This record gives sequence, C-alpha cells and structure tokens, in this order.
Amino acid sequence: MSSAEIAALLRWYGTSRRRLPWRERPSPYRVWVSEIMLQQTQVATALPYYRRFLRRFPSLRALARASERDVLGHWAGLGYYARARSLRRAAREVLSRHRGRLPSDPDSLRGLPGIGRYTAAAVSSIAFGRHHALADGNVARVLSRFLLLEGRAGSARLDARVWEAAHEAMAAGRSMGSARFHPGDWNQSLMELGALVCLPQSPLCGDCPWIRRCAAFRAGKQETVPAPKRALAAVRVPMTALLVRRSEELLLTRRPGTERLLSGHWALPEPKQLPRARRGRLLGTVRHSITRHRIVLQVREGFLEDGPLPAGAIWVSRKRLDAFLVSSLWRKAVAFRQR
Ligand code: SF4
Repeated sequence: MSSAEIAALLRWYGTSRRRLPWRERPSPYRVWVSEIMLQQTQVATALPYYRRFLRRFPSLRALARASERDVLGHWAGLGYYARARSLRRAAREVLSRHRGRLPSDPDSLRGLPGIGRYTAAAVSSIAFGRHHALADGNVARVLSRFLLLEGRAGSARLDARVWEAAHEAMAAGRSMGSARFHPGDWNQSLMELGALVCLPQSPLCGDCPWIRRCAAFRAGKQETVPAPKRALAAVRVPMTALLVRRSEELLLTRRPGTERLLSGHWALPEPKQLPRARRGRLLGTVRHSITRHRIVLQVREGFLEDGPLPAGAIWVSRKRLDAFLVSSLWRKAVAFRQR
C-alpha cells in the first residue's frame, strides 16, 4: 500500500470518524473496556452500556475491587457474559502482576484473560501508539476488497492473507514517520471505513476515499468480495425451569460451570437441581437465542417439600432479582411470576 493511499484514508478518518467516548479520552483502561464491549456488539448498542459501566467502574482499580455480581449486573443485557467475567479477572491480574498498569506490548496483553490477538493489537496501537497491525471483520472486508483478496469471509486462508496485508500496510505507514502516521488512528480508520462506508452489503463506494484505487471496485466485485461465510445451522435447546415462590421471594440457584450456556449464572432452578420438588402447571414458554442456540424454556410452577434448601439455592426478594438475574432469558422467565 502506498503512502498516498494511507494518507488519503487518514484524512478521511480525521474528518468523518464518529465522536465516541473512548476515542475522545483514550486511556488504556477506557480503550480496553471499549474493545471488549465491541466484541460481538455494535457501537450503537454498546454506547449506553459503556457509559454506565465507566460511571460505576471509572478505573481499573475500581473494576478489580468490584464483586463479580456487581460487574455482571452492569453488563446485564449486553450478552456474552464471559467477556465481563474475563474483564474483571484481567483487572485483578493487572493489579497483582503489573502494579495496576495495563501492559503496552501485545504479548503481555495476550497473557490476560479475554484478550486475544485482535484486542491486544487494538489496545497496544490505540492506547500506547505501538505499531501493531490488526484485522477484525470490518478490516478484513476493507482490505480484501481494496486488494482484491478473494476467499470466504472468516476462512483461515483469507484471514492469513488479510493479516499479512495489515502488517504490510502498518510497515508502510511506519516509514511515513510519526508526524504523518499514528498506528492507532490507522487501525481505527480501517475499522471505521468498514463500519460506515465499506458495508457488507451495498458498500457506499461513492463516499470512499479509496474509490480510484480499490481493486474490487475497478473489477466490479465490491458486492461479491469477500464471499459470505457459510451459515452454521441453528441448534434447538429445550429447557425447563421451576418458578418456586415464597411470598414475595423466588428461589434461585447457580448454574454449574460445566453448563454449555450461561454457566455460573444465577437462574431459576432446573428440575435436576431440585430433585425433591414437585412440578406444577406450565406458566409459559420463553424463546431466546444465544449465538446459534435457540432456547425454548418452559417455565413451570415448582413446590418444595419441607426440609433444608438444596445446596447453593437462595431465596431472593422481587426487588433484588435484577441484581442476580443478568441474562434477559431469566428476566423474561420471572415475568411469569405474577400470573
Ligand atoms: S471503493 Fe468500495 S469496495 Fe473499495 S474500499 Fe471503498 S467502499 Fe470498499
């Protein structure tokens, strides 16, 4: 990639980028939280969660000292809760192993929970100005079109070519000197072009600073490169939960860490967790999707027999349910409690 092409995209980024809170004050902690939130979540969806999360946990120290339940409570509704758990665990490790300062090099960053190759390069380049290339879905689409790298989106073969192209572009930018090239801006400019202009369907090539140089556009292949991913088949997951009441309280249990979905979450108990409970009438059915899993949850009344509570079960008052039930699956399920 030539320095003129790099400069053109950076100029576009300077005038067209979205003003986002993690860009306006890009501390390592803020950039890190934003990158974790933006994994699997669109910017517009993540924004209110990001603001709320930063208000409650304004620093890495505040996050490290918070309870897991508090952190999950402030992630509630965003989904993919393993991200929130990893974020908290990583903050604790940074406090104990790195004296509270997020490391700047990608290898050390990748040693922390929840940080992979992409996130390490993003934090290192955006927050610390290090020359590390990255390729997420947006960058892969932009580079594969600009350079006409053909292949299936997300395939190992195309990913390898895209990462190689990203490294070459970063090296070319670096040779332009620090006055003209900032690695974090460069990485964000590629991502921003993918998010705003080089869209998966119907890219807005007329608005693109690279229209004259783009190989896919010149070949008339901007709509067909890269080839779409093969869709994974949906998996139906039938579940049953028991709604056990005691006046204004509900019985909750924690899902074992071995569960495939929502492991470690507080939830309505499943019958296997309450072998001595009697099942009552069906209160309703909740349909909920997590990635490709289509959960069909039957919510039934449950009645405990006299005796001690099963291990790990607790009574929680109606007012405190939101602090425990993080996933909207369970929030929909407890809505049947009134009926
Ligand atoms: S010209 Fe079109 S296809 Fe090429 S990079 Fe720009 S938006 Fe994408």
